[in-house]
Amino acid sequence: MSLGEFDLIAKYFQRPARHALLGIGDDCALIAPTPGMQLAISCDMLVEGRHFLSTVDPERLGHKALAVNLSDLAACGARPLAYTLALALPRVDEGFLEGFARGLHALADAQGIELIGGDTTAGPLNLCVTVFGEVPPGRALRRDGARPGEALWVSHPLGGGIGDARLALEVFRGRLSLPGEGFERARAAMELPQPRVTLGLALRGLATSAIDLSDGLVGDLGHVLRRSGVGARIDADALPQSAVLAAQPLPWRRECTLAGGDDYELLFTAPATADAAVREAAHGAGVGVTRIGRIEAEPGLRVIDDAGQAVAVGQGFDHFKS
Ligand code: ADP
Ligand code: MG
Repeated sequence: MSLGEFDLIAKYFQRPARHALLGIGDDCALIAPTPGMQLAISCDMLVEGRHFLSTVDPERLGHKALAVNLSDLAACGARPLAYTLALALPRVDEGFLEGFARGLHALADAQGIELIGGDTTAGPLNLCVTVFGEVPPGRALRRDGARPGEALWVSHPLGGGIGDARLALEVFRGRLSLPGEGFERARAAMELPQPRVTLGLALRGLATSAIDLSDGLVGDLGHVLRRSGVGARIDADALPQSAVLAAQPLPWRRECTLAGGDDYELLFTAPATADAAVREAAHGAGVGVTRIGRIEAEPGLRVIDDAGQAVAVGQGFDHFKS
C-alpha cells in the first residue's frame, strides 16, 4: 500500500471527536449515552458486486454505507450517536477514498454523528458500518408489536414512492430502459437512500411496530407478521409510486413496489384511529406516508388489487437464494 494504513486513517477518516469522549486513535472509543437511555446497535455490510456495482460513484457509496445503517436505527425509533467503519480495500486508491470519505462524512454531519473507530485491511472491497444510537427504555419500535385491526403504512419521498431503486437496478441489469432523466432519478433512489431517522423518532409511542424496507415490501412485511403472530391485507394499487415507475408496464410496477428492495423506507403499523397523528408525524419529518393495508388476525399476506383480485407476489430478496 502506497499510503500506509495509519496515514490512510488519519487522512480520510480521523476527525476531531466532538461528542465521543475518545474517538479514533486508541484501542477503544468511548461514548457516553444520555443517562437512563438504552443503546440501539446495528451493523450492515456492503459487498462489491452484491450490494453495489463496481462503477458506483465513491461519494454515493460512502453515503449509502452509512445510510443503510441509519435506516435500521430509524426503524427502531433510535437517535443516532456514532458509528464505526470496517474497511477491506483491494488497493489504496486515493481517488476512491477521497470520494468515499466525503459522502460518508457529509451524511454523518447532516445527522450530527461521528466516526469513532474501525478497522482497515487489504482484501476484496467490503464495507461494514456499525451504528450506535439511543432510545428510552421500552420505547424502541420493534417488529413484534403489530395487532389485528391496525393500519399498515409505508413512508416515501414527498410526491414519490417505493420501488425506484429496483427499477434502476433492472436498467443496470439490461432488462429495461428508462429515459435519461427518469433513469437519473431512479438511480439516485438506489444510490442515495435517505434514512428516515426523523420519522422514526416521531413514530415513537405512535407506531406499534416498524421495519425498514431493505429486501422488498413483501419479504420485510413477512418478518413483521411472523414476529407479531398476525397476518395482513395490502392493496397493491394503493402502493405509492413515483411518476417514473408509474409510467412502466403493470408487471414491473408490481414487481418493483411489492418485491423491490433497497428502498430504505419505513414500513410500520399504527392504531386505525391514529391516521391524523401519523400524517402529522410524517409532515413534521418532511416525508410522505401512505396507508397501504391493514393487519388481520388470519396469518399470511393477502395482496389485493382495486378490482378485488388476488395478486401473486414474490418473496423479497434473499442473498442465499438469488
Ligand atoms: P487495533 O490494532 O487496536 O485494532 P488499529 O491499528 O486497527 O487498532 O486502528 C487504529 C485506530 O484507528 C483505532 O482507534 C481504530 O478504531 C481506528 N480505525 C482503524 N480503521 C479505521 C477506519 N476505517 N475508520 C475509522 N477508524 C479506523
Ligand atoms: Mg485493528
